[in-house]
Amino acid sequence: MQDTVPPGPAGSVSVPERQRHGPGPPPIAAAAVVGADTVPSDAGVGGRVLVLNATYEPINVCSIRRAVVLLLKDKAEMIERGARQLHAESFTLARPLVIRLVTYVRVPRQAHRRKITRRAVFARDGWACQYCGSRSNLTVDHVIPRSKGGPSSWENIVASCGPCNRRKGDQLLAHLDMELQRAPRTPRAEIFIHVSAPTIPTAWQPYLARAA
Ligand SMILES: [Zn+2]
Repeated sequence: MQDTVPPGPAGSVSVPERQRHGPGPPPIAAAAVVGADTVPSDAGVGGRVLVLNATYEPINVCSIRRAVVLLLKDKAEMIERGARQLHAESFTLARPLVIRLVTYVRVPRQAHRRKITRRAVFARDGWACQYCGSRSNLTVDHVIPRSKGGPSSWENIVASCGPCNRRKGDQLLAHLDMELQRAPRTPRAEIFIHVSAPTIPTAWQPYLARAA
């Protein structure tokens, strides 16, 4: 039997509610990106911006629109900018690639604990079965089966290939000659950045490497 993980919010840690207060966002709905005829330094970034904590720890990925709001409200500073310019009625701004929150935001580990998705489990486990190392036919497995009271927690859910998952079935590891390659843990915030951005833009890499 294959275990499943309840669907959770995909993506990343949201900026705390208190940062959402204040006047509404500026009129950037009509913002246009110009300079598309040149090769921009933000090629391949898509519409995403890496958000660093005040400590430079990467904590989140947000939309350009969200980043512009944080920059205009002086809640964040521009760390890496793209070649393109964003134009709106009231301002022109370089396209943000990486921003840093001015005020340190405490990211509760609890916020990550809720975000158990298949993709996040696979990313944490290096897209490999935690029993045999296979990279194909991946599923998620409750180490202690739910039927035996195993919780849906990061410490009890691992990537498992289909054959290992079926072989393990509803039994405890102690009753089988199977073992975990490493003890599953709550992943670092960086995992959620990898999950929310399929390819990591060059401009982000130094900040993610620093956190690794
Ligand atoms: Zn396997």
